[in-house]
Amino acid sequence: AYVITSPCRHEMSAECVEVCPVDAIHEGEDMYYIDPDICIDCAACEAVCPVQAIYYEEDVPEHDQEYIQRNKQFFLKN
Ligand code: SF4
Repeated sequence: AYVITSPCRHEMSAECVEVCPVDAIHEGEDMYYIDPDICIDCAACEAVCPVQAIYYEEDVPEHDQEYIQRNKQFFLKN
């Protein structure tokens, strides 16, 4: 699945929400999250993010690894 990372925090530009074909991207308190069970890995969101916050899970930068878990946890709670 694709994962949204720290540049999204407080940015919340939301272009990704519009382009996701399966509505996998949901609004959190200060950033958006991708539901890993719904994401079909199409990469449309990655291409439109104005702050390059979205990565395929295996390509998430070292300093933002925690966001892989955060995305999962968001959907366990919500
Ligand atoms: Fe939606 Fe595609 Fe992004 Fe997954 S990779 S969240 S399916 S736009």
